[in-house]
Amino acid sequence: MMRYDHILVRYGELALKGKNRAQFEKKLEQNIRFAVSGAPNCKVKRTFGRIMIELHGEPPTTVMEPLRHVFGISSFSLAMKAANKEEEIKETALQAFLQQSGAKKTFKVNARRSYKPFPISSQEMNQRIGGYVLKNTDHVTVDVHHPDVEINVEIREQGTFITCGRIEGAGGLPVGTAGKVMLMLSGGIDSPVAGYLALKRGAELEAVHFHSPPYTNERARKKVEDLTSVLTTFGGPVTLHVVPFTELQKAIHANIPSNYAMTIMRRMMLRITERIAEKRGIKALANGESLGQVASQTLESMHTINEVTNMPILRPLVTMDKQEVIDISDKIGTYPISILPYEDCCTIFLPSDSVTKPRRDKAARFEQAFDFEPYMEEAVENTEMMTFGRETKQSEQHMDDLL
Ligand code: ATP
Ligand code: MG
Repeated sequence: MMRYDHILVRYGELALKGKNRAQFEKKLEQNIRFAVSGAPNCKVKRTFGRIMIELHGEPPTTVMEPLRHVFGISSFSLAMKAANKEEEIKETALQAFLQQSGAKKTFKVNARRSYKPFPISSQEMNQRIGGYVLKNTDHVTVDVHHPDVEINVEIREQGTFITCGRIEGAGGLPVGTAGKVMLMLSGGIDSPVAGYLALKRGAELEAVHFHSPPYTNERARKKVEDLTSVLTTFGGPVTLHVVPFTELQKAIHANIPSNYAMTIMRRMMLRITERIAEKRGIKALANGESLGQVASQTLESMHTINEVTNMPILRPLVTMDKQEVIDISDKIGTYPISILPYEDCCTIFLPSDSVTKPRRDKAARFEQAFDFEPYMEEAVENTEMMTFGRETKQSEQHMDDLL
């Protein structure tokens, strides 16, 4: 029996990107190669505004699942290849239809002759293929307006590719085309979604997590590692920086009025994140803030907290409702991890009387009362770094490309 032996990958938005296009295509090709590295016989090739994956016996499902996560892909289809001979094209189209159609009973043929030396016109091919399918099936009819299945036939110089139906891709831009972003990753619902959305627009990620042992336990940390692993499935390896935050939190608790403790803690987190980003050559940060969601996410709070850095901060969730965030979290598989009940560093030490409109001048004045600098240095110094998603050889190459 004839089988689907190729996957045809389409990328919409890239076509619009003018002279950056070549770089985008190259990155997308690399990312696809990384995504399908679990199926080692696959070959990934770029051809005329498309990417073609030759399966070489790999089961299509093991390739299609990871492909759905690759940003920059608008859609993809299983494809069968035929030689540019009429009889072979007709038979292959029939087989592609039979394997894809299930109970579906109407179809339409869309032939496209990109290779002009092929002697039969597109229109004529539509009719000949359609006739052949009708002759070799029962209870199947043509419907040019609302077909159950579209049989797409592309006649190219290197052969004819036949697809039936398409699977929607993840959209966005290829990870790595926008540079790197340092994601502030808590164990909560929001920040992993923020990371996912930054990946979607082509940013590559590193992540920073603040933990406060022994007040936060190993399981809380494991949670953040698991969230990081999930993020790697959308864009390749992610390096996680785990910052020991206990001593600094104690110092804040002891030296800052309780209603400003949360604001100062956020400012410290941001300063440390900026320092780690600078060390890593990263020029922008991202977090999971959403306007008005909690006391630290009022505009006044953001104004006062944001004062300590002039790095751009991406806030992909800033205008989203919680439910919209939860829906994405569900879709990308971080939700069940995020809702595990372990303590977060922010909830410990923190009083319930936080101001909702903290002022920059007051925050700065409170910070003068104590020398926090050695604590920040110590925290940066003792930060642990680990990289997730590097199991395969290809992912190492991928990393090497970036260095
Ligand atoms: P999340 O669900 O991401 O925890 P949240 O709604 O609970 O967000 P906050 O706890 O106020 O909001 O945190 C706001 C943002 O600050 C988070 O989205 C995250 O980017 C960052 N953040 C909070 N806690 C930590 C932490 N322990 N380590 C790193 N970043 C953190
Ligand atoms: Mg949180």
